[in-house]
Formats: sequence, C-alpha cells, structure tokens
Amino acid sequence: MCGIVGVHAPGQEAAGLAALGLFALQHRGQESAGVAVSDGDQVMVYKDLGMVSQVLDERRLPSLRGHMAIAHCRYSTTGSTVWENSQPAFRLGPRRVVAVGHNGNLVNTRELLELLPGGRRRLRGSTDTELLTALLASAEGGDLVDVLVRTLPRVRGAYALVVMDEHRLFGIRDPWGFRPLVLGWLPHEGLDDAGGWVLASETAGLDVLGAAYVRDVDPGEIVVLGEPDGPRSVRFAEGREHLCVFELIYFARPDSYMLGRNLYEARRRMGEALAREAPAVADLVMPVPDTGGPAAVGFAEASGIPYREGMVRNRYVGRTFIQPSQALRQRGVNVKLSPLREQIRDRRVVVVDDSIVRGTTTKQIVLLLRQAGAREIHLRISAPPIYHPCFYGIDTQIERELIAARHSIEEIRAYVGADSLAYLSIGGVLEAIGLPRDRFCFACFDGDYPVPVPYDVAARKFILEETPAVGAR
Ligand code: SF4
Repeated sequence: MCGIVGVHAPGQEAAGLAALGLFALQHRGQESAGVAVSDGDQVMVYKDLGMVSQVLDERRLPSLRGHMAIAHCRYSTTGSTVWENSQPAFRLGPRRVVAVGHNGNLVNTRELLELLPGGRRRLRGSTDTELLTALLASAEGGDLVDVLVRTLPRVRGAYALVVMDEHRLFGIRDPWGFRPLVLGWLPHEGLDDAGGWVLASETAGLDVLGAAYVRDVDPGEIVVLGEPDGPRSVRFAEGREHLCVFELIYFARPDSYMLGRNLYEARRRMGEALAREAPAVADLVMPVPDTGGPAAVGFAEASGIPYREGMVRNRYVGRTFIQPSQALRQRGVNVKLSPLREQIRDRRVVVVDDSIVRGTTTKQIVLLLRQAGAREIHLRISAPPIYHPCFYGIDTQIERELIAARHSIEEIRAYVGADSLAYLSIGGVLEAIGLPRDRFCFACFDGDYPVPVPYDVAARKFILEETPAVGAR
C-alpha cells in the first residue's frame, strides 16, 4: 500500500500540512514515515522508521520550513524495513535534486537498472522507488517535466507518485491507474496565504486539511503544481483505469471516495449482496472489527438478523495484515481482539470479514469466539477467495501462503473451524460498487494481470517455478 501526500501552499508551512494529511493515511503503512520540504531553494528530507506521530512530531516539524512538501508512510512490499528504504526517497544527482514518494510496485526493475549509469552499486537501499529516483536525478535534459515524460513510459507496474524538486511538485499515476491519487484545493485561511493544492492517496487525506476534492489524477497523467497559472496537466501515456478493487473492499478508509463511490456505502452494499448470495440462519451478525463493519451492517440489514458487536479491537495495535512477519501476525491477534462474551454465548453468529489471506488470523478469531461460548459460527467474507499474488503493491504474499490457492472452500472451512464459510462473488462485488468490471484490477481473484509480470518477478511469488509469465493482456 503506502500513503502519499503532496502540498503546494505559498505562504504556509507545507511540512505540517503534509504530515497532517499523512496522519489520515496512517492505515496505508505503519513501518516508516517521512517528509521532504522545499522553500524554493533547497530540499530537506526527514524520515525514520515508525508511525507518523512518532516520526513527524511537533519537535521535528518546525525545523522543516518551506511552502512545498511531499510525505509518505510505508508498508513494504519490496525491500526490508530499514531506514534506507523509508521514503521520500531523495537524490542529489549530477543534474538535479529529486524527492519521490511512491505507492505501488514496479515489475521491470531489472530492465530499469540497466538504464542507470553505474547500475546497482549506485543504490544504497533495495527498493524500486530508490531506483526510479536515481533514474530521474541522473537523466539527461534540464527540465524535470521532460525527464518524467521520457522516463515514465519505460516504467512498468503500479505507481502513484508525488515527486518534487526545489521548485515544483508533481502528482503522477501509472497508465493502468492501479493506485489512487486525488487532487484537492486548499482554501486560503489568512491574509498572508493564497490557499494551495493538495495531492493525496485518498480523499480522507484532503478532508483532514479542509481541502476540497477537485478530481482524480488520471492514469498516465502528470499534474504539475508550482507554476504561475495553477495546476498543469501533462500526459506521458495513454491511460486506462484498472484501480485495485481491494482499495474499495478493504484497504482505503470507509470515509474516502473512489471513482465517485463512498467506500462505506460500497462495503455496506457488499454485505447486502453477500447476504443474498450466502444466507445463514443465525441469532446475530457481527463484524471482525474494524474493517468488517460496513459489510456486517449490510448483511444484517438484508438478512433481517440483528447486528451486534461481538468483539472489541484494541485501537493501539496495528492492523495484523500489515505487520511484516508471520510470527508477529500470529501473536498479534489475541492482543488485538477480545470477545464480548455476553453477546456471543450460546448464540449462532454470522461473522463478517473482508478477506482471508493465509487463514491463520481467521482461525484464531474462530477459536476466540468458540472459547467465548458461540454455539455456531457462520463465516461470511465480503470478497472473493484470493487465488493469486499481487505484483502491484499489495502484500498478498507468495502463492503458497494464500490459503485459497491450495485448498478448497470446504478445506478452508475445516481449517479455520467454522460451521459454514462463504465468499462474495466477483459479480456481487461489482453489483455493490455499481461500476463495470473493466475499471478495476481483479487479478488476485481471477489471475488476469493488467500488466504482464516478467518471469523473474513472478517466480518469486509463485509456487510453480516453471510458470513462464503471468498475464498477457
Ligand atoms: S492483484 Fe489484487 S491486490 Fe493487486 S492490484 Fe490487482 S486487485 Fe489489487
């Protein structure tokens, strides 16, 4: 995932605004956070491992002066959790200074490495973002817009970017539009500022700043901020949206909007569709908190079964799915969730969650509910089974760790210990969203990868090493 923010606000301290926007995107990455700021002369970067509140605190922010900033919170899908891999990536190149915040995953890093003078030994970290930053900083030609227009068509995979030099800020989406990026208008507050512009992964990042949503950055588009006539749009490729459908199902905040859809409402409707597709006889419907909530409400409304909270979540523990190791994930569940015994005891419960990835978390949840006295547990998942790994920036792991890739639904049910298990169909997801299928990437459900994945990248994630190449649309 990762969250990115960009702020261009003459007369204001942009680092503080960007950090505030990043707070609203903390759910997108909890491993590291950072900001790059420019006063028009100099770019400064501050970043570290940790949550946004730990890294960008009130002692640090006042020293980051300037009217233009980009910010990033990281959830690693390539490269390990070390300082060198935190973002924004920064490069003082032979031709220019560049800072980059990236949400996504590139699939042709080997090819891109060949374009970098000096190759791999010029990089300190191990991320695709550092490579891209080094390419931009060292490319021939003076103007960064020209460099972006020449370089980006060679970059394949998922990238929503905020890029900055001393003078301008750029918001960019790859031609496939995998990852979201929105543009907002920041109204002026005092006599000394003239308002400004904000880029953010989600509309929630605009809301927190009081910025008004203007539009999505289009696939294949660069939005240039910092020029006298306001934002300028530059196309570097023909683009067609393949927004990651998981953003709508699970990742993004429920108060965010994507493709004109409010995500709470889309998820509630997924729950309604699930109740129609996979009804259950039960005494109550409960969510796995917090992300299963809207779908559980929809399931309850459509089925007529009362909605209850059956578990409470410790808000101060990170999301299980984005902690880096399996051992931590397994340990994390009991710290995070505890059952409300009075609600559950002797009841037949429908438990609504938004995904089963490895199955280990779900198994522990079912065990918790059994120990709390649940009589029957009917598990309903408001997304289809995940059969295929993601190469575009979501940590859905290698294929052999995806439980649905190797086991039937009945085997999964038996493994997690539920009385019944059902998933929402792809048709049900689309019906709930109310948009055509070709607007989205569904590859982890159907294996139809919008950007072909080279063998060496695919082999790392598939069990079958002989798999020649993935997807060829
Ligand atoms: S493969 Fe799955 S998780 Fe990855 S971008 Fe496509 S829909 Fe999203």
